[in-house]
This record gives sequence, C-alpha cells and structure tokens, in this order.
Amino acid sequence: MSFPRLGSTTPLASPLFTSAVYAIPDLDVLDAIYERREPGYIYARDAHPNAHSLAAKLAALEGGTWGLVCGSGMASLAAAFLGLVSSGDRILSSDRIYGKTTRLLKHELTRFGVATEFIDVCDLDMVRKAVNATQPRVLFVETMSNPLCRVPDLPALAEICQAKACSLVVDNTFATPVLCRPLDLGADVVMESLTKMIAGHSDVTLGFLAGKAEGQLPTLTDKMSTWGLSAGPFDCWQAERGLETLELRMRAAVANAAALAAWLGEQPGVVRVVYPGLAKHPDHALAKRLLPGGFGNMLCMELADRAAVNRFMRAAPGIPFSPSLGHTRTTISHPASTSHRFDTPESRTQQTITDGLIRVSVGCESYEELRREMQTGLTATLRSG
Ligand SMILES: *Cc1c(COP(=O)(O)O)cnc(C)c1O
Repeated sequence: MSFPRLGSTTPLASPLFTSAVYAIPDLDVLDAIYERREPGYIYARDAHPNAHSLAAKLAALEGGTWGLVCGSGMASLAAAFLGLVSSGDRILSSDRIYGKTTRLLKHELTRFGVATEFIDVCDLDMVRKAVNATQPRVLFVETMSNPLCRVPDLPALAEICQAKACSLVVDNTFATPVLCRPLDLGADVVMESLTKMIAGHSDVTLGFLAGKAEGQLPTLTDKMSTWGLSAGPFDCWQAERGLETLELRMRAAVANAAALAAWLGEQPGVVRVVYPGLAKHPDHALAKRLLPGGFGNMLCMELADRAAVNRFMRAAPGIPFSPSLGHTRTTISHPASTSHRFDTPESRTQQTITDGLIRVSVGCESYEELRREMQTGLTATLRSG
C-alpha cells in the first residue's frame, strides 16, 4: 500500500481517507479498476484505502495471500458462511463457541436451509464420524474456546477436512496471529474479531478474514459488499494503529497471564484456576505444541459463589467488570451471567461454568499493579462469609 506523495514526501503514518466515493478520470480507467489492471477505488462499501492497508498487514501476519476486513467479527463470520455454504449444505461446528456465532448458525443460517451439527471437536473420532456421516461443507472451530480455553487439534482437524473437501474455518480471536497461525496448520479460512486484542484498545468494532486459496477473495468481497458488511475507514485506521503494538501487547499480556495463573493457584478463596499454561489443563500438551509463543492472555478463576464474585467486583474497581476481552488493561467477565446466560443451568453445570467462575482478560499493565488489585479483590471475598 503506497500513500499519495505530498510534495516530494510521503506521510509516515497511514492517512485516513474518509471519502465514500472516488472521482474517476474516464471510462477506460473505470474498466481498468474493475478488471484489477490498475489500482484505485470506486465506492467505499466495496473497497477503500484504509481497509485495504489494514487487510494487507493482517494477511501478512496470518501467512495468508489475501485478507478482508469487515464491519465486525460477526460481519466477517456472516461473510464467510455466505461465501462458503448454500441452501442444503451442512456445517459441523464446535459446541464451545462464541454465543452470537451459535445464534448465527442455529437461528439464522437454518432460515436459509443450512443445518449445523454441534459436537465436541476435541474428540477427533467423533469429528471423523460426523464428517463421514453428514459430508459438511464447513467445519467451524475456535483456536481456544470461551471461557475454559479448550484447544482443538487443528492439524488433525485439517487432515480430516482435506480428505472430504470440507473447509476448515477457524475463529482465532483468543489466540491472535501472534500466538497461532491457523492457515499454517491447514485451516482454509481464519477469522479474527479485531475488536479484541488486535485493535486492542476497546474503541473499535471490526472483523477480519484471511486465506490462501485463489478465488476466495472475490467471492467473499462480493458477499461483504452485497450484504452490506463492510467496515468504515475510521475504524480501520484506528485498528491499523492498534496493530502496530499487537505483538508487544500480546507478549506482555501473556507473561502477565502466566504469572497471574500461578499466583492465583496459591490464593485462599480461589477454588480453581483454568489456564492452558498450567500442567493440569486438559489441553496443556496440545497447547504447548500449537501455541509455541505462549498460552494466551485469557484465564478463569473460580470463587466460592455469586456473592463472592460480587464482593470481588465491588472491591477491585481497578479490574473492571466489562464483558469483552483484549483491552490494554485487565478486565473480567462472568460467563454464567453474560456469554452463557441463555444456556440452561444443566448445560452450564455440565460445562463447569459455575456462578463463581470469573473469566479474566489479562492486559499489559504492570504485573505488580495487577496483582495488588487482585489481592484487594480476593481479600474482600474472604471477609464476610
Ligand atoms: C467477540 C468475538 C466474536 C465477535 O466479534 P465482534 O467484533 O464482537 O462482532 C467472535 N468470536 C469470538 C471468539 C469473539 O470473542
């Protein structure tokens, strides 16, 4: 991506191009742009310089040959499914995915004749059987599940998919390309909610898709444009700025998370700590192999009950209860009341998502500051019965 020259200089930081439409010198140039013989833009819903610049940088990070920015993580998933499946096709999906993605598959795609079967994708035999039985067009998984960070074996899933001409689509939001590059492990399409760690400052809502195969980009761009799923220039410009420090922020947050997980395990009042970096996590060995750069910035800590969670929240305002993830500073969420609110109590119990479970999105503030505020919150949970 090259930016316009200003005199004999070029801007070092990416400029923001807010124009919704472009002026084209004549019909020959218009034809050349449409036929991709010449660079240029026509209408911002189809393409604009800020989305283009952000997509190019992200595609390189993912090891993809193309990248496409959409207006939200959900917009990018919608574009992916609209591009990959048609009425009568089937999707196989992990049963531990982002709540709105479950809704998209269960309540929206079904209206267009696309059925989804949800299974435990950590059970490879079950995946093999389901792929053979239903011949799905797409297998959809998350690199690390929410909130308990279960890690499926992506290379093994890719192998199962390749044998059956099924596309493996991976939501890599919890890992980011700093820790995992699903395209390198055999995924066909990778998706990121840029809203989280990648833009990283909780002031942007955007999503992203990348892949390696020729022909995917024109199809998905067409879906994005036709269904109106595009991103605005300002959000892209801000996300590109966030991306500059993604690796620094991720490395610092992962180091904080690893230290915090170890520390929490020794604190009275903490019933359970879930972090893939701990040897007792069910997917520890696999996570070590698939995420050589670290085990992520997401962890869970379980307190006695809902009352203890409330006491923690009131005593530790420096760790805001803010049900998203990927902020610069540490925030917490309560899966039973937010992401898994509409699951049945039985289903929550079966998943071990108790009323005392707090999900922590660890940030990149100083570790000492974080540990002190955690200590304050935990002390308060112990005080009154
Ligand atoms: C947030 C999130 C999404 C949706 O992204 P939005 O940008 O909020 O639309 C999808 N998957 C995961 C894992 C997420 O955390």
